[in-house]
Amino acid sequence: MKATSGGETPYQLPSDIVEFRDLAKRIVREKILPLEQQYLRHPGHAYGIRETTNLRAVFGPQIVDDLIKISRETGLWYLMVPGQYGGLGLSMLAQVVILEQFMYTAVPFPFANVPNVLYSCTGSQVDRFLKPVIEGEKFASFAQTEPNAGSDPGGMMQTRAVKDGDHWVINGTKMWISGAAESDIIMVQAVTDPEKRQRGGITMFLVDRHNPGVHIEEPGLMTWLGPKSAQYVVRFENCRVPEGDVVGEVGKGFTLGQLWLTIHDRLLRGPYALGKMQRALDMSIEWAKQRVTFGKPIAERQAIQWKLVDMFVDIQALRPMTYEIAARADTGEDVRAEAGLVKLCASEWGARCLDTAIQVHAAMGESLELPLTLFYRLLRHAQIGGGTSEIQRILIARKLLKSL
Ligand SMILES: Cc1cc2nc3c(=O)[nH]c(=O)nc-3n(C[C@H](O)[C@H](O)[C@H](O)COP(=O)(O)OP(=O)(O)OC[C@H]3O[C@@H](n4cnc5c(N)ncnc54)[C@H](O)[C@@H]3O)c2cc1C
Repeated sequence: MKATSGGETPYQLPSDIVEFRDLAKRIVREKILPLEQQYLRHPGHAYGIRETTNLRAVFGPQIVDDLIKISRETGLWYLMVPGQYGGLGLSMLAQVVILEQFMYTAVPFPFANVPNVLYSCTGSQVDRFLKPVIEGEKFASFAQTEPNAGSDPGGMMQTRAVKDGDHWVINGTKMWISGAAESDIIMVQAVTDPEKRQRGGITMFLVDRHNPGVHIEEPGLMTWLGPKSAQYVVRFENCRVPEGDVVGEVGKGFTLGQLWLTIHDRLLRGPYALGKMQRALDMSIEWAKQRVTFGKPIAERQAIQWKLVDMFVDIQALRPMTYEIAARADTGEDVRAEAGLVKLCASEWGARCLDTAIQVHAAMGESLELPLTLFYRLLRHAQIGGGTSEIQRILIARKLLKSL
């Protein structure tokens, strides 16, 4: 049995996935890990904004341009982009396996970060919104949450859009919107039919961040996620949006938002956590072997060995679960509840795994020069952002009870 598995599964992965996975692993080990210390020590790294801006703040342009070059030359830039838009057209399973490798480090690797909502763009929207986001020229933020609408956005959303000629006029306040201030496009959900609400009465709009009706409060709300978190309050005041900037159909914006959450904020939390958990285990094993107390390395103490085993158990359970559900999504199965299961386990097991790693490292575990506390904060946050653990349990229970 090998503890530092780095992505093996009980079943054989197709060889093209293994090839990409190994390429990603090599890039992380050779190009990114050597940059990690500088990243962690820098007060400017941020959570919730586009990777390239974040990286430029820390490393300056040269290193970032080199990383972008690697990303583009290997095709990894297009990792999550469908074939019809010039992407690699990889399966969800492949994306999950490859992403896991990049999540082994705190330094974000630059690739196209496309909210899947934008794949519903049609006509001129494709050139105005989708393509620039794929190429990294524009960045989109997602605005669903409001001061009184978090877990129950469908029932509690107050932001309204009312038709006025060939425009919609949006009024309302969104809160906790990651990266809003530096985004170019805000994907906003607003109520267009208060009777129907989430069942045909919520619409998604693509709003230019510089629209005079958009007001973003500076500075952003501070959370414990990083030295510079980037969550914003966004007010829409008589914000006029051309009717052509509705994405998807009028009234179907809630379903589109769920699509974004199912993949980005739920299924992809699997690899997001797995990379960090594997790193925490690898670091803990190494540390336990070299740290001596009372005449022996702590690795020889059963209390420490059991901690390592507990971390290993969580990883070994989460990895095949994530891969299986990704493979089921590839067959077209509706995996909304299962993606919620991945998110639930990835965030809860992930945070406890990092908590254990910090305990094994003790004072060194608290050091901000190691990635452990940052990983812990990100995984603890994952129990809240994108739908809380309680909401995932509600989704899973609903499916369980339905199948009885
Ligand atoms: C760092 C950060 C980044 C974020 N980024 C974005 C973003 O980019 N875009 C965006 O739209 N939103 C964003 N959010 C908002 C996030 O999605 C919400 O915070 C989250 O959905 C929970 O909503 P809430 O905080 O209002 O909790 P509430 O809905 O107020 O819930 C409070 C507590 O009650 C529990 N609860 C609620 N209903 C039930 C129930 N029926 N049964 C049992 N328990 C229940 C919840 O699980 C939670 O524990 C972000 C939040 C943070 C902290």
